Amino acid sequence: MGYLSPPSTHSNMKSISPTKDEKGELCSYDSWLGKHPSALDNFEEVMNIAEGKEIVVFLDYDGTLSPIVDDPDQAYMSDAMRSAVREVAYCFPTAIVSGRSKDKVYEFVKLRNVYYAGSHGMDISTPLGSSKYEDQKHQIKAVDEKGNHVVHFHPATDFLPTIQEIIKVLKEKTTRIKGSIIEDNMFCVTIHYRRVKNDEDVDVLREIVKSIMKGYPNFNISGGRKVMEIRPNVNWDKGRAVGYLLESLGFDNSNNVLPMYLGDDKTDEDAFKVIRQIGRGFPIIVSSIAKDTEASYSLRDPADVLTFLIRLAKWKKEPVTENK
Ligand SMILES: [Mg+2]
Repeated sequence: MGYLSPPSTHSNMKSISPTKDEKGELCSYDSWLGKHPSALDNFEEVMNIAEGKEIVVFLDYDGTLSPIVDDPDQAYMSDAMRSAVREVAYCFPTAIVSGRSKDKVYEFVKLRNVYYAGSHGMDISTPLGSSKYEDQKHQIKAVDEKGNHVVHFHPATDFLPTIQEIIKVLKEKTTRIKGSIIEDNMFCVTIHYRRVKNDEDVDVLREIVKSIMKGYPNFNISGGRKVMEIRPNVNWDKGRAVGYLLESLGFDNSNNVLPMYLGDDKTDEDAFKVIRQIGRGFPIIVSSIAKDTEASYSLRDPADVLTFLIRLAKWKKEPVTENK
């Protein structure tokens, strides 16, 4: 696929220096902020770069739009956040890119004016006719519940039967680990251990999962915030999803596009990297601790994200007032 080619000029990307200090220890949050400045405190600088450009907004869900909670089924976003995302989506093309299944993330977000990429981008829907990306094997034309013609993109369809088998085995073998939750996210599986009380049980859970997955060499295990994730070995991730959506929305050859991606977890780093490759845009990590990241800017938590999104929509509607 013809990804957006990095331009030789007009780059707004800051160079990243390591997050660790000379002794190899993680920096304090304040010194980390020096390398990944707050997108809120530097809002004018960010928006000066964006003036006259076409911003496309990508948002992770858990830990970005909603707080991380013990029960993954209760990870609701606030009405204020929903309203802010709705306003942003009126101003800019906006997509939610989540590890959750697309249906589940839609149940949380409940907005019709955003695009959804679920299962780490392995389940994307875009309007029919918008996509220039040709992949007959993995694209399905359909009509959504509103009667709109859409294209579903499922690069990991072949793995679906095996994923269901893995979920069954995982559930059987982890029943004794109290607090563990196996979540079916359609094209991937998430094992939550936030509610597992002691560290020994977490270690046992890890070993059980690793042992089971030895029988499934076409899958890999990755880690996140109190989760293990099982994904099929397809060359696809949140970064590829960003590229697919930019192409599908007609921005692949635009030197004017500025992708903005807000996310808090390891899997979001793939999207940050793609934005770095494009050479323009804003990879923004949501984190209240210093951590290694490809992001240029940061926001501390979902409360910061809410304030940022409100300001972003306001800037589009009233750029002069907001810039004063
Ligand atoms: Mg997240």
